[in-house]
Amino acid sequence: CGIVGYIGRDRAGSIMLDGLKRLEYRGYDSSGMVVAAGQGFEQIKRTGRVVNLENALEERQLGGNLGISHTRWATHGDVTEANAHPHTSSDGKISLVHNGVIENYTGMKEFLIEKGYTFQSETDSEALCNLIAYHYEKEPKDGPKNPFLEAVRKSLRHVEGTYGIAVICPDFPDELIGARKGSPLIIGIGKGENLLASDVNAITHCTQNVVYLNDNEVVHLQNNDFSITTVSSKNVEAVIHKVDWDT
Ligand code: GLU
Repeated sequence: CGIVGYIGRDRAGSIMLDGLKRLEYRGYDSSGMVVAAGQGFEQIKRTGRVVNLENALEERQLGGNLGISHTRWATHGDVTEANAHPHTSSDGKISLVHNGVIENYTGMKEFLIEKGYTFQSETDSEALCNLIAYHYEKEPKDGPKNPFLEAVRKSLRHVEGTYGIAVICPDFPDELIGARKGSPLIIGIGKGENLLASDVNAITHCTQNVVYLNDNEVVHLQNNDFSITTVSSKNVEAVIHKVDWDT
């Protein structure tokens, strides 16, 4: 239902929590976030209100300068902590939040189980997460191409359905990737920090400069930089808009 992703200074957890609260009016049944920490991920998920996530975060602060978060409106699978996003691939390489519906997830899941990937949830979203991990595993790590970005684009070419996604990989602790098709995703351009969200309201507490991602586009974000390509790897020129409710 809602997405907030952050890369920048050392406050990913609290900035994303503020963002999620600004998305609450859209309705949801559970929420969660994951932050890149050291060589891996730290993750918290809760069913019910965002305040439940907030309380859990008070007990266990999530530091870090990179993270993704989500409010879920369940379409595939019950309202449980296991089905709440983010989902992490069974090899621990990819973490993903997803809005929308992956229509061909059953076939994708069968293929991945055959390849040795395992599943913790009943969601369609976890299939895409493991598919990205599968392509990442196959990608040459010393080639000219960014293997993380390549794996995301390759996987999305197989998706039938709708998606707004935000993805992170612990091997790339300074990179955040987003993409959309049929589900909104907006980039917030800050100073030394960048955001991703499904709604401008979840960004304007950090920056007024936004880029509206189009269908079939993938954005690669770093602290001070971003670039957009299509799912088929063509470069896209970004247009920055200023959100100003005063004028
Ligand atoms: N289809 C996904 C699920 O059921 C995402 C739902 C959403 O957009 O929140 O978990």
